[in-house]
Order: sequence, then structure tokens, then C-alpha cells
Amino acid sequence: MQSITYSRNVFLSVTDLCKNHCGYCSFRREIGEAHLLKRREAFRLLARAAEEDCTEALFCLGERPWEVPGFTDLMDDAGVSSLLDYLVELCELALELGLLPHTNAGVLENDALRRLQPYNASMGLMLETVATVPAHDLSPGKHPDVRLDHIARTGRLKIPLTTGILVGIGERWADRERSLMAIADLHRAYGHIQEVIIQPLDPKPGTALADSQAPSMQELCSVVRMARRILPSDVAVQVPPNLVHPLPPVEAGANDLGGLSPVTLDRINPGRPWPSLEVLRTCLKGYALVERLPVYPQFIQRGWHGAKTRELVAALAGEDGLRKKKYIC
Ligand code: SF4
Repeated sequence: MQSITYSRNVFLSVTDLCKNHCGYCSFRREIGEAHLLKRREAFRLLARAAEEDCTEALFCLGERPWEVPGFTDLMDDAGVSSLLDYLVELCELALELGLLPHTNAGVLENDALRRLQPYNASMGLMLETVATVPAHDLSPGKHPDVRLDHIARTGRLKIPLTTGILVGIGERWADRERSLMAIADLHRAYGHIQEVIIQPLDPKPGTALADSQAPSMQELCSVVRMARRILPSDVAVQVPPNLVHPLPPVEAGANDLGGLSPVTLDRINPGRPWPSLEVLRTCLKGYALVERLPVYPQFIQRGWHGAKTRELVAALAGEDGLRKKKYIC
């Protein structure tokens, strides 16, 4: 029976302040409405996730929030003097509670990556697209060269990386192919891409792309097939099962469902709750749902997960590098 993997996670939105203004985003907030996660709330969510048998603490934040005027006041309110120090503190707390950090903090300099690397099982940065699209006109951090450079630098640092493309944000078919080829080339150069998310646009009211069409299932499955053809076989193809019925993309070649949380919503798509494992088992009858950690087995074998995560990874991983206690249907 073919295996489809997933991880069990908790989603912590560290801050929704962001210097970019992407035309499809409903996560970002302006300074008067933005938050910085308080320590007590972080502890509450992480402790709850530990009780719920999760293994992954997904830390997400807007890109370069420190460049937005007013961020210092937000940090003062939360008793935080450095965002990077605070991220490290949150990662340490997650590890103490038995959860493996996976941080997606946008484009970072090498010093920041090196600082976070020891505390993270893996990290994430969506490429999104190599095309120049109007949805990114106000998002300097979404320039393809900036994203590709970040992905290459994580490779040189040997950080296992989750990346992906967005489908339906104004890119053409050929752009999707070029994006996947760029990811494949980077993986061939550095060997560090663990999974590629094929994420369909989910148009949100109030955003510039509110009236855009989400890609059809047929189109999405064609992208999944193309991803499977272009990407090296050791790179997983992921589809988010809260945005799309997972069976057709799985039949088209997707083999991972990403992080599913029993504790928090997908804060990027809050109107799209995670299906339960029971529902997924029914949807994917004939496939084995297998729980993995936020770092894939091949990177555990190579020892690329952060030095401070090693003890916990050793405790959680079975001989096959997947989660020791598996959920298999
Ligand atoms: S999608 Fe990400 S980078 Fe773009 S505005 Fe939203 S939070 Fe910022």
C-alpha cells in the first residue's frame, strides 16, 4: 500500500506584521492591529500541542517586520528586545515541551539563519513563483532572485528546507514549470529540499486577488504531475488537504499532506479547517497515512537537523526515520 505522510503540528503566528503587501494575503495586519505572540500564549499553545501528541511547532511570521515603523513598540509591549533572540527562546521552549521547531520567518540573512539552525529540525520558505506578477508589486521580498538566493543559502548551510509554489497568483503555465525546475536545480546543487508544496490560490475577500479564480482540480493535478516529473524522486510533493480534496492530487503523484493540527487553525487560510485523520483515511482509502516528523528521514540520517533537536529527534523517530508511534490506516 502506498504511504502518504503528514506531520502533527501546532501553528504559532509569532507576528502578522510584514513589510510586504502580497495581493492574496489575509494574514498580514497593519501596525495598529498587528500582534506579537506573548510568552504566556506561546506556552499555552505549545503545552496543549504536547498534550495532543504533536511533534512539530511551526513558527510563522511576516517578512522583516522589524522594517515596519512601530514594530519596536510592539516588541516593548511583549517584553521582547530582539526578535531573533525571541525566536530562539520560543524554539527552546518548544524543545523543552517535546516539540520540534520548524521556522518560516521569510527571507533572512545568513547570520540569522545560522542562529536559528541549531534549534530547528527544518525550516521553510516558499519560492511561490519565478515570475514577476502584479500580486507581488508591493512585496520586495517576493522578488524571485531574493527567494532563490535564500533557498540556495539554506542549502549551503545544510538546512533541510520546505519550499513550494503558489498556483493561480497570475503566473503562466510556463512559469510554474520554470519555478519547479529552479527548485529541482537547487536541490541537485545542495540536496536540501525535503518537500515542495503545491499550494492553490484561495481567494480571500478584501485582497487584490479576491475575484480571481482558484485553479481547478484538473489544473492543480496537472501541476502535481509536472512537479513529480521535474523534481528529484527524494523530494516529496505536498498538497494541503484543507484547501483541496486530497485524493485527485495524490493519484496525480502527491505523497505528503503537510502539517495537520489538532490545536490551531491554518492561520494563512483560517476559513479552511483541517480535515480530521478519520476524514482523511476515508478520503484516501487504499493509501496508508503515515505520520512523519517535521524533518524527513534522509536528513536525520545525514544529521542535518539542528544540533539542539538531536536528542528529541532520536526519541521521536523510529528506525525508518518516521515517527516512532505511527498512525497507519
Ligand atoms: S503572504 Fe507573507 S510575505 Fe506576503 S504579505 Fe502576507 S505575510 Fe507578508
